[in-house]
Amino acid sequence: MGGSIEELTSVNALPGISLVSEAVCQQVVGRPEAFSAVESVFAAMASGAAYNFPVVREAIGHADALYGFKSGFDRAGMVLGVKSGGYWPGNVHKNLTNHQSTVILFDPDTGQLRSLVGGNYLTAVRTAAASAVSIAHLARKDARVLGMVGAGHQSTFQLRAALEQRNFEKVVAWNPHPEYLSRLAAVCEELGVPFEAVEQEQLGAEADVIITITSAFEPLLMKDWIKPGTHIACMGTDTKGKQEVDPELLAVASVFTDEVAQSISIGEAQHAVASGLLSEADITPIGEVINGTHPGRRDDLEITLFDGTGVGLQDLAVASAAVELAQAKGLAGQVSL
Ligand code: NAD
Repeated sequence: MGGSIEELTSVNALPGISLVSEAVCQQVVGRPEAFSAVESVFAAMASGAAYNFPVVREAIGHADALYGFKSGFDRAGMVLGVKSGGYWPGNVHKNLTNHQSTVILFDPDTGQLRSLVGGNYLTAVRTAAASAVSIAHLARKDARVLGMVGAGHQSTFQLRAALEQRNFEKVVAWNPHPEYLSRLAAVCEELGVPFEAVEQEQLGAEADVIITITSAFEPLLMKDWIKPGTHIACMGTDTKGKQEVDPELLAVASVFTDEVAQSISIGEAQHAVASGLLSEADITPIGEVINGTHPGRRDDLEITLFDGTGVGLQDLAVASAAVELAQAKGLAGQVSL
C-alpha cells in the first residue's frame, strides 16, 4: 500500500492544463484553420479513424435549459475530448448568448486533462466550415449566385465562409423574419458583393448554391423551386422534429452528410427516411468525397445536398487547433490541478 508523498505526487502529476479563452480562440482560429480542421476530421470519420460517441442531451428542469455532451476520438489527429454545454434561453436577459459551450481535451495516451477551451465562437466557425467544405467539394465550379435562407447568429459565419469557396457575384436571401436580413446585407456590403432580399421561389430560381440555417420545423424550400445543378447545405436541422426543406428534394438529390447516424435521426434526412423517400444507404459521408473514395458531384445537372448535423468531432478538431495555435503564439494560459 501507498508510497512516499513524493512518489504519489509524481505519479499523479499533470503536465499542465492549457486554457484557451473565447477571445484567444477568435484571435487564432480563422476560417482557413477551421476549414482545414473540419475537412480533416470528416475525412478521418469516413476512413474509420475517428468516431463520435453517443450524444447526451437533457432538459435539466432548471432555467428551461438543455444541457449535454458531444464527444469522440480522432485516432488520426490524436484528439480525445468532449464539448459540454447547451441552450439557456434566459441568457439573453443576462446579456449572454443562449448557446453556451466549453471544450475539454484529454491526452489519449494517459487520460489526463490537457486543455479547457471556450466553445462558443468555435461552434460558430466550425459550423460555417462544414457548409464551406461541402461547397468546396460538391458545388459546381461555375456557381455564381449564393442563396441564404436564415439570418440569425450563425448566418453571417456561414455567409463569409461560403463566399470564399467560389467566385460568387451575388447573394440572394430570405428569412422568415425579414428584419434580420440587414445582417447579411451588411456583410455583403463590407465584402463588395451585391445583395438582394427575395422571396423563397425566386431564391431557388436564382441560386446555384443555397445554405439553410434556421430553426424551422417545416419546409421552407420546395423541390420544384430548386433548379438542376444546385448545391444545398442544410445546416439548421440538428434535432428531432426540425426541418428546413421538402423531403421530396432529398429524394431527387444526391445526399451527403457529416455522419449518417445523425443525418437519419436528427438531421434533415430524418423526414425523407421516415416517409420512405430515402434510405440510409442512399446517404454518403462527405469524408468519402474528401478522401476520394466517392466521386462526389457527377455532372452539372445533379442536385447535391449536404445534411450538416454538427458532430462533436468538429468541435474537438477546432479546439485542438486553437490549443496548438495559442500555445505557439504564447497566448494559452497554463494551470495545474
Ligand atoms: P438564431 O436563433 O440566432 O437564428 C434562428 C434563425 O431561424 C433566424 O433566421 C430566424 O429568423 C429563424 N427562425 C426562428 N424560428 C423559426 C421558425 N419557427 N421557422 C423558421 N425559421 C425560424 O440561431 P442560429 O444560432 O443562427 O442557429 C440557427 C439554427 O442552426 C438553429 O436551429 C441551430 O440549432 C442550428 N445550428 C446547427 C449547427 C450544426 O452544426 N448543424 C450548429 C449551430 C447551430
